[in-house]
Amino acid sequence: MAYPDVLEKLVSLAKRRGFIFQSSEIYGGTGSVWDYGPLGVELKNNVKARWWNAMVRQRDDVEGLDAAILMHPRVWEASGHVAGFSDPLIDCKTCKARFRADKLQDAQCARKPSKKPGEHAECQLTEPRQFNLMFKTFMGPVEDSAAAVYLRPETAQGIFVNFLNVQQATRQKVPFGIAQIGKAFRNEITPGNFTFRTREFEQMEMQFFVEPGTDMEWFEKWKAARREWHIGLGLDADRLQFHQHGEKELAHYARAAFDIEFDFGGTLGFQEIEGVHNRSDFDLKQHQEFSGKRLEYVDQAANKRYLPYVIETSVGADRVTLATLVNAYREETVEGEQEGRTVLRLHPALAPITAGVFPLTKKDGQPEMAERVAAELRKRFTVFYDDAGAIGRRYRRQDEAGTPFGITIDSDSTRNNDVTIRFRDDLQQIRVSAEKAGDVIAAYLASDVATAEAGKAGTA
Ligand code: ATP
Repeated sequence: MAYPDVLEKLVSLAKRRGFIFQSSEIYGGTGSVWDYGPLGVELKNNVKARWWNAMVRQRDDVEGLDAAILMHPRVWEASGHVAGFSDPLIDCKTCKARFRADKLQDAQCARKPSKKPGEHAECQLTEPRQFNLMFKTFMGPVEDSAAAVYLRPETAQGIFVNFLNVQQATRQKVPFGIAQIGKAFRNEITPGNFTFRTREFEQMEMQFFVEPGTDMEWFEKWKAARREWHIGLGLDADRLQFHQHGEKELAHYARAAFDIEFDFGGTLGFQEIEGVHNRSDFDLKQHQEFSGKRLEYVDQAANKRYLPYVIETSVGADRVTLATLVNAYREETVEGEQEGRTVLRLHPALAPITAGVFPLTKKDGQPEMAERVAAELRKRFTVFYDDAGAIGRRYRRQDEAGTPFGITIDSDSTRNNDVTIRFRDDLQQIRVSAEKAGDVIAAYLASDVATAEAGKAGTA
């Protein structure tokens, strides 16, 4: 099935509803840097919390870490980033546009977008030259080469250099992993497609240290587990695929690499959201050599020491958040209503607001009761209270925000002490006692769907 291109509509919805704003917009914006608004920060935090929960909290063989962004400059020599973290850059002398030489096929001529760079008679493309993607800055007051440091282009190196610290502090035995979530920076030549490729972004990375010889077995386990995680986020299974790195794409030290790709629809189509890599012992070996410190793991039971191999899972928090939005976006007609609705069918547990609370009118004690219900629900969920305007419009606003449950207080409610719960996905409504509303919502959240049907199936 071909999915439509919804990116442009999402950019406008994201701004209108406060998911994502362009950075420094009042100054004309900063190139490919984005700010998360009130709804966006909740959504992205929910994505990150689910990752942390699945990767760290639910396992006893993975430990958490939060390493600093600034690292010793030698780290990036050892990792190969100073010498090799570059993309081939081509300039067009006529229109001053810049392209990645390896992505020319996906690019458009700035003069004539229907043509590719080089195809227009006036194109004057330069030879490709290597452009290092690392942001450089200076540590301390003197701006000379001795003080140069980099903003990390990936979080992984913070894990490698802390491998023995974590292992010794936690007494973990190989196989075990270290996970962290943090900012990374890349001076991308051709950023774009909203938050898909930006210059500042967040990664969620896990390095799993294993005994050489067991690496391919672990690689397969992680590959499968990571695909399942994306499905658990609510991404449609038919929008996910693996892409295996062929010989040309594979880094020289890597034993195997697969990307997990998501279908963003339209011309963007399937694109990488996560990489699963078998990195051999390359990184630890490099750091051992460059630091002069032994980084071997001592297996006391077997009386041997070795440098573990590493299986890496590396996923972009922003890219996955964007995938959840693309996956959730729908324009629907509503039976019996002229106006359709735009709705984000986000996984209920990812939705920035769990419940909207609405008094039907501003009379008869309805707002007072609604505020009491909202205050009670706020102890457990994110809640938005709204008493302004027609109820249909209030529902629509929450549909657009992806809010899975709407709690309405009407004149019967104040008499009977009950509320209606309206479900975002199938628009059904059920009546439950006001005291029980929180438990009912919790049960639906656990069932992963926002339809009344789920409740009938015995989850509520
Ligand atoms: P690409 O080929 O798209 O440049 P990559 O192979 O260099 O990506 P990795 O270094 O494997 O990417 O990074 C792991 C993950 O980090 C990617 O799958 C993606 O989700 C995220 N990521 C990488 N670069 C960016 C970026 N510029 N903006 C947003 N997310 C990014």
